[in-house]
Amino acid sequence: MPETVESVFARVVTRNPGEPEFHQAVREVLDSVGPVLARHPEYADARIVERICEPERQVIFRVPWEDDRGRIRVNRGFRVEFNSALGPYKGGLRFHPSVYLGIVKFLGFEQIFKNALTGLPIGAGKGGADFDPKGRSDREVMRFCQSFMTELHRHIGAQTDVPAGDIGVGSREIGYLFGQYKRITNRYESGVLTGKGLSYGGAQVRAEATGYGAVFFAEEMFAQVGEGLDGKRVVVSGAGNVAIHAIEKVHQLGGTVLTCSDSAGYLLDEKGIDLEVLREVKQRRRGRLADYVREVPHAVAVAGRTPWEVPCDLALPCATQNEIGAAEAAALVAGGCLAVVEGANMPTTPDGVRVLRRAGVRFAPGKAANAGGVTVSALEMRQNASRESWTFAESEQRLRETMRDIHARCWATAQEYGRPGDYVAGANIDGFRRVAEAMLAHGVV
Ligand code: GLU
Repeated sequence: MPETVESVFARVVTRNPGEPEFHQAVREVLDSVGPVLARHPEYADARIVERICEPERQVIFRVPWEDDRGRIRVNRGFRVEFNSALGPYKGGLRFHPSVYLGIVKFLGFEQIFKNALTGLPIGAGKGGADFDPKGRSDREVMRFCQSFMTELHRHIGAQTDVPAGDIGVGSREIGYLFGQYKRITNRYESGVLTGKGLSYGGAQVRAEATGYGAVFFAEEMFAQVGEGLDGKRVVVSGAGNVAIHAIEKVHQLGGTVLTCSDSAGYLLDEKGIDLEVLREVKQRRRGRLADYVREVPHAVAVAGRTPWEVPCDLALPCATQNEIGAAEAAALVAGGCLAVVEGANMPTTPDGVRVLRRAGVRFAPGKAANAGGVTVSALEMRQNASRESWTFAESEQRLRETMRDIHARCWATAQEYGRPGDYVAGANIDGFRRVAEAMLAHGVV
């Protein structure tokens, strides 16, 4: 019996019980690819969809470490090697207490299509741990990273699987992970991790890439209707690496970012978020957003609420998954929002997307709009392999061109399949076709 989208989805749900985020990510892609299967019966015959939904390998491991008081702690580590049709597994590591297998699988699954969309030779994986770096000393984070890598090192390699950062894993953590990998393996294998520091094989623009890339994508969307970001009111969620660089690029392009947020609430600065203060508070002091108000008294810290209630032209959710549901989407619509561009992975729920779409708000899914991070990671791998390093300007130019290409391909594919302006369909179909073609060529593996 040939596979159908419904038969595959039913199997995904029964095989992966209790993993709603994974089911959600799969459902969204399957809802787009029906017309591709109708045009390509060879994909259904080869059970490509079912194979894409099953990770090639999943590793779950114990991460024991010692805290500063000498107490032994135990966390759970994950690496899901999802699909290697296009290249070595590639994707970030997330350290956050919410991490469990279902989160890692949803992220790894999204990564398949995102990485394919970049057009670069990278497969897809994701990993992480249910470790909470909040309130931990540098030494504790180092010991955790060392223990994590003591297991992870057997599964990764420059030609096998190349992790990077995600929530809770920034340049500090990548440094500790790289140091331990080097020590255990006795190999200076620069290409085994991306997001490295500039002093030891990192790439220019990698830190900026996800946030900048999302804004470049938004710029392309506005260009479709003959507009720019100049003078636009922009609402951002999150206050981490993606949010900070999205804010920076919006300001460079003449827009004003009014908000950012953390788990306590959001910050409203009608004059535009002052990046220097935000960096000092969040990155250097690792503090709370409320501290910003002490430095910038005209700003307001709104506790326990989300920024979507602030009227805007463009919303950039840059925090985490499922932060814009139907109610938040309705608030954005009421505030006159013209476009939602996902800097985070899957920040909008299916109900949220429906509300936006019904109101005619343009919507760009994370797998297209936030592909800038992994794009520059792939460029970091290329520089490591050739022992070169490119300038900031050159790297930013390549990032901008790739985001322009991804936008153009999503747009053209949506047109081709009779869904004009539907970036979700365009991204899913284009990403899926690239992976399916390679998998078909590789035979039943
Ligand atoms: N964690 C990022 C993402 O969600 C980057 C992955 C990478 O650079 O490998 O795409």
